[in-house]
Amino acid sequence: MSGIRLERVNKVYHGRKQVHHAVRDLDLEVYEGELLVLVGPSGCGKTTTLRMVAGLETMSTGSIFIGDRRVDDLDPGERDIAMVFQDYALYPHLTVYENMAFALQNRRVPKNEIDASVFKVAELMGLQDLLRRKPKQLSGGQRQRVAVGRAMVRSPKAFLFDEPLSNLDAQLRAQVRVELADLHRRLGSTMLYVTHDQVEAMTLGDRIVVMKDGVIQQIDTPSNLYRYPANDFIARFIGTPPMNIINDFIPNQWLGIRPEDIRIVDSQSGQARMVVYVYVVEHLGSEILIHTRRELTSKLNTIVVKISSDSPRPVPGEKIGITFADAAVSWFDPQSGIRLSKEVASAMLT
Ligand code: ADP
Ligand code: MG
Repeated sequence: MSGIRLERVNKVYHGRKQVHHAVRDLDLEVYEGELLVLVGPSGCGKTTTLRMVAGLETMSTGSIFIGDRRVDDLDPGERDIAMVFQDYALYPHLTVYENMAFALQNRRVPKNEIDASVFKVAELMGLQDLLRRKPKQLSGGQRQRVAVGRAMVRSPKAFLFDEPLSNLDAQLRAQVRVELADLHRRLGSTMLYVTHDQVEAMTLGDRIVVMKDGVIQQIDTPSNLYRYPANDFIARFIGTPPMNIINDFIPNQWLGIRPEDIRIVDSQSGQARMVVYVYVVEHLGSEILIHTRRELTSKLNTIVVKISSDSPRPVPGEKIGITFADAAVSWFDPQSGIRLSKEVASAMLT
């Protein structure tokens, strides 16, 4: 097992008509034994990054280290890392056992050693009873487990996952996500995990790297990303629903406030920091989302408030007051979108 380090990695694709800078000056370290999640919208360069680590794509500039070894010029096979893709493409005509044994057979590992590895991994992944089945006789979740198991049989230095859950339905995705978290805890392997889904990132990652347009925006723990987003892009990307960004509360600053940090008060009372109109009330079971607008007739300036389902709830059309504690507020610079520290934010006001 080894850590992974990327230094000043760039990838430029040269198309027939245009040049695309897909990954820009990426500096990144996955610590040994860590599960690091790389998250960002579609097209931000996640797959390109993983493929460069795996050796399936060349870098334009930069260096990649696996453990202490610089792997820039090594073929994928020499890097000794395993990659699990979104469409995990098991061999359809082979059994689960044969799928898992395939890589070792290719390397002419003795049969008894192959058996030992496959059985050990099958037990770890709960696949013992499925070894004789063909992929089409398995559920989506079972196939996904076989794909992960197949990667594990080789005991690689590290695992790379590229959106491995995106072909599963919502319920199964949540279930396999828990299994992956548990697997990581038991194996303690180095894992670099890519997804566009911020919930997956928040629940799986020891640390999270947020990427946009090929550039890293922030590397931090889930709770720091949530509480101290480095810019308004991250504030709007992390959280369901995301942080409200209010651009006309005071001049020269944007105010960010999480839906759950807002309280509803009487619109006439002195407590109200803002008056808004309810237009949709959404029931989510334990919580309720109140979608509000600053003006009754305008779709601009919406603010979402999250309250618990046992609180008194307003109705669509109602005028309500909202309030929040200063401590819960984030301030952003309107030009750059960068988060301002409390000191800078208050200094700018005076
Ligand atoms: P993600 O995995 O985050 O969705 P990708 O790494 O697949 O993003 O792609 C990043 C950007 O690079 C996208 O704009 C994509 O269109 C572009 N890209 C990816 N592969 C190629 C390629 N082989 N040639 C040209 N452009 C590419
Ligand atoms: Mg991708």
